[in-house]
Amino acid sequence: MPANCSNNQDIIAAIATPPGRGGVGIIRISGKNLQPLAKAILGKLPEPRRAEFGSFLDEDGQVLDQGILLYFPAPHSYTGEDVLELQGHGGPVIMNLLLTRCLQLGARLAEPGEFTLRAFLADKIDLLQAESVADLIEASTVDAARCAIRSLNGEFSATIAQLVQALTALRVLVEATLDFPEEELDFLQSAQAREQLQAIQQQLARVLIASRQGALLQSGINIVLVGQPNVGKSSLLNQLAREDVAIVTEFPGTTRDTIRQSIEIKGIPLHLVDTAGLRETSDIIEQQGIARTHAAARQAGLVLLVLDSRQGITAAERNILAELPQELPVLMIYNKIDLTAETPRAAENEYGLVIHLSAKNGEGVDLLTDALLQTIGWQGNVAGEGLYMARQRHLQALVNASRHLQTATNLLDEGNTLELLAEELRLAQQALSTITGEFTADDLLGEIFSAFCIGK
Ligand code: GDP
Repeated sequence: MPANCSNNQDIIAAIATPPGRGGVGIIRISGKNLQPLAKAILGKLPEPRRAEFGSFLDEDGQVLDQGILLYFPAPHSYTGEDVLELQGHGGPVIMNLLLTRCLQLGARLAEPGEFTLRAFLADKIDLLQAESVADLIEASTVDAARCAIRSLNGEFSATIAQLVQALTALRVLVEATLDFPEEELDFLQSAQAREQLQAIQQQLARVLIASRQGALLQSGINIVLVGQPNVGKSSLLNQLAREDVAIVTEFPGTTRDTIRQSIEIKGIPLHLVDTAGLRETSDIIEQQGIARTHAAARQAGLVLLVLDSRQGITAAERNILAELPQELPVLMIYNKIDLTAETPRAAENEYGLVIHLSAKNGEGVDLLTDALLQTIGWQGNVAGEGLYMARQRHLQALVNASRHLQTATNLLDEGNTLELLAEELRLAQQALSTITGEFTADDLLGEIFSAFCIGK
């Protein structure tokens, strides 16, 4: 069991506001019984759920700071335990003095996310909601924040709960039928098991689409720029980012290292990586750059292959394409059309979508951004409405559930034994339940909560 899942008898305390100076700084404390600590630090027991002005005292009764205090006795608090909040002055020294005073009185420093972990363990929120707390704090776009708050309100959880409920009803039906083997298939037919299963699959497919969109909104996608030296990769990166981040020169091979730049197109974060180009070289530094290119391509969701329109696809581009992971989508850019007097356009060739543009004057770059969004599967929901802020682990669980349901459908169609069908339905339900945290291993909990900030 990870350290932060084990000791929930302890009183935990943390500075909940960000480090630095500000008008207010908040110390948050949670524990099974905070009365002795509250009395010692406040000189009295505060009234439940009332904002009170008071003094925060050291061991000699001297005033350390003054401010607002809030006391939420168990079980009606964020963690389900007694929670005390001291809102003092937001300076690092005073915050540390107050925190030290709490530690003196028996509290220990909270681990990252430990307050929210306690809320989850006390069934105040499910795992999806707990994750959305972190997603909300981390949100880097307005749409991502709106999506996260909807998950925190329980919309995503309710959708998953509905699916689980429908699956449970179907499982009850199938498992009851197991007891009457001779009538099994007729019985299932009359109870419309096939239709029920289909309805669940359709709903799951809808959730998966909304979740994939939400995941794009949340974390975006890694895009790698590859191509021969001097074809205009850095210029294109600059054109997309609209600022000079990569060094643009006439000499082949100047982009020795990978350069990362995150941009936002229609609210989707795109993490662009410019690379040293995939080509044979004897230059040690450049060789290292090329090794990084291969590594970056392995982590990418999309590759932009840039080439010079004057040359078209050469052996060098074919070699690059041959070295990329097969399943990776590639968008081909015919750059420098200002030199060939072509008009900007989108077309297709045997490798897929091709955009003809000029990174120098920007013509055709809008076609590229549209093609980018299309290739990564963005369907353009307005302001994140109807999307779920899904993490990779949620998508994986939905895909797993979907696979088990497909197998279940095949078994039903083949008139196969009901035991196998029942097992597939059970596995589908289990996969869905991992999303809200009903069947979640402690090490996964540790991983999820350790990514939180301290004090949350
Ligand atoms: P990289 O090595 O692939 O990153 O290529 P750079 O972006 O450094 O560009 C190499 C040279 O090509 C620079 O002199 C750029 O100004 C020039 N260049 C890049 N894109 C275009 C373009 O669309 N049209 C023209 N005429 N020149 C370009």
